[in-house]
Amino acid sequence: MVSDKKESCGLFGIFGDVEAVQKTYFGLHSLQHRGQESAGIASSDGESLQCYTGMGTVRRVFRAGRDIFEEPQTQKRAFGTLEKLSNPIAIGHVRYSTTGASRAANSQPLLAEYSRGQVAVAHNGNLINATLLRDEYEAYGSIFKSTGDTEIITHLLAKPTHVSNPDPLAHVLNHLQGAYSLLFLFADRIEAARDPYGIRPLCIGQTERGCYVVTSETCAFDAIGAKFIREVEPGEIIRLDKTGLSSRFFVTPGTVTPAHCIFEHIYFAKQNSTIFGENVHEFRKKLGRRLAVEHPIDADVVIPVPDSGTSAAVGYAEQSKIPFDMGMVRSHYVGRTFISPGQKLRELEVKLKLAVVNEVVDGKRIVVVDDSIVRGTTTRGKIRTLRQAGAKQIHMRVSCPPIRFPCFYGVDFPTKEELLANNRNLKQIKEFLEVDSVGYMSLEGLLSCAALPEDHYCTACWNGRYRIPIDIAVNKFALERYQMHMFEEVE
Ligand code: SF4
Repeated sequence: MVSDKKESCGLFGIFGDVEAVQKTYFGLHSLQHRGQESAGIASSDGESLQCYTGMGTVRRVFRAGRDIFEEPQTQKRAFGTLEKLSNPIAIGHVRYSTTGASRAANSQPLLAEYSRGQVAVAHNGNLINATLLRDEYEAYGSIFKSTGDTEIITHLLAKPTHVSNPDPLAHVLNHLQGAYSLLFLFADRIEAARDPYGIRPLCIGQTERGCYVVTSETCAFDAIGAKFIREVEPGEIIRLDKTGLSSRFFVTPGTVTPAHCIFEHIYFAKQNSTIFGENVHEFRKKLGRRLAVEHPIDADVVIPVPDSGTSAAVGYAEQSKIPFDMGMVRSHYVGRTFISPGQKLRELEVKLKLAVVNEVVDGKRIVVVDDSIVRGTTTRGKIRTLRQAGAKQIHMRVSCPPIRFPCFYGVDFPTKEELLANNRNLKQIKEFLEVDSVGYMSLEGLLSCAALPEDHYCTACWNGRYRIPIDIAVNKFALERYQMHMFEEVE
């Protein structure tokens, strides 16, 4: 992958629609940017659940969607599993792994059976107490089949003392620490929950026919023609069943200050999504304008690193009055390249995915706008390609502050030591990137562009202030305790 920061999963759920499975398929497609490692749909006919998951993109797992729309004969021939998924209640998931390896056993929704029936769970986020909980359950004999953090939730649900609680789900959620937006599919209902800090997004919409939809980003509503109603509040559980939508809280509202991941706005979310009360494209343009004020430069053209730097570059160009142009174009058809991540090959991969438009950069003083820099090696590869194309000067502008700390709340950044800005000052960063100047957005500047009060956002990857304390070592592969001797098909 060219990008060295990875999304952390996307969720979609819909209740009471005769085309629930088909709409979930389209919803997941629109969320594909949040994870491409695996995809899955679980559905219910009101009595029992069926679940299909697989490795790769939504298109690959569900074979281009053709199978869910064509007549049963073709469906059966092409991909028999999907005909079982024509039920009115469905949830779906696209995954990028933030706990546990990329393998079929970790794909979601995760289907389980316990004393109260079946449940399928889809999770976006990262549980920081997953290892502790799993150790505790294993000590009493529980057997786990996955190495992700989500399976522990099904064990918590099944524990006899939790089952007998008046509100088992609320009770279970109070045992979880970390970031979680969750969808639970039971035979007769969907329950959606968001952690008390509201770290990952989760929102509610409604179709024209009045069916409720819950998803990570509002772009999924656009994909199926649904309207955004509101976000699921931090600490809230939403229940969708045949009586409609009902809400309850598992923490008292107002007792926890939210810590929304502002990186969702900067990089992860799609430009046409509205999250944390603000459109993503408009927010990024604001960042670009502010960046131009904080780090002005005399140049001939502003070019974005597509796609995530595009909106900020538009803002930078608007504010600076320097013409905007597309100096790089992204190939959306390369997919995974299966190469070892050595430096030489990484640079070739960058060239393959991002082609330079020589006519735009040759002989020019260019401002390159990107949303963020993680390791820096990918960015340096792009810079070298621009130099080879004849750029006279290259001025790097970044629409977020230098990333110095890892994320433990559902974003797969490299270790602290691998981060470019860890233990490097601006001069050293400029030399590493081989640019003529570098300018990062200040943290105050970033927060001044946001719609909510400053203290409503998580900013830990810039200042190390983790709102949920990290008391134990959190490691993506902490639950990968044994080598798995399994052969899996991967994309
Ligand atoms: S540490 Fe950074 S990426 Fe992680 S939740 Fe906080 S703001 Fe988002």
